[in-house]
Amino acid sequence: MKIILLGPPGAGKGTQAQLITERFKLAHISTGEMLRTAIRNKTETGLKAESFMDKGQLVPDDVVIALVQERLQEPDCENGYILDGFPRTVAQAEALDTITEIDAVIDINLPDDFLVERLSGRRVCPVCERSYHVELLNGATTCPDDGAVLVQREDDEPKTIKSRLKVYYQKTAPLIAYYKAKGIVHAVDGTQYYKVLGENIADELKAVQ
Ligand code: ADP
Repeated sequence: MKIILLGPPGAGKGTQAQLITERFKLAHISTGEMLRTAIRNKTETGLKAESFMDKGQLVPDDVVIALVQERLQEPDCENGYILDGFPRTVAQAEALDTITEIDAVIDINLPDDFLVERLSGRRVCPVCERSYHVELLNGATTCPDDGAVLVQREDDEPKTIKSRLKVYYQKTAPLIAYYKAKGIVHAVDGTQYYKVLGENIADELKAVQ
């Protein structure tokens, strides 16, 4: 199965991708995560991406497309994968069409006020990249999984959140129509508790399998 997770920043794509990859034994491909690793390692891609990401803008299509193209050739992708954060523009979707055929697009819907609240309260583990919301941490400052000190992502600042949402509606939301025309979109309600949402997504995917 080849799946795309679509939805605005803060919709819970990363969390859902983790649940689904474990359940369906798929590779998890997060372009945001790959780009953050590239920045940490100061690679050529990282140097190209950093200034865009800090401002909440999209990294240029050619940079991201090359990154994904290479990643999809790795052996763990043979049994299927879930794309989290890619494609984000119609040009990226068109490039993906030349590489492979996607089976399902999960479109996670939720209103903006939820997104802002989630993103501004988000803390991430720099080691395993899992996210947690401050309210659920009960004052804890370290990752429950590996003990690393949690951090706030630079692009989770309120000012940057606004520009990320704007970019989403302008550049990424048109992909819903793009994939609806192919008849592969499955809409789900992203306001639900994450485990319930995970079950909903799994039900949609079982019907595709
Ligand atoms: P979120 O979905 O919460 O915004 P991501 O980790 O998916 O978080 O992405 C963080 C940033 O990485 C984006 O704001 C953008 O700058 C960059 N990025 C990730 N994926 C892409 C992509 N497919 N195209 C362009 N930029 C991307």
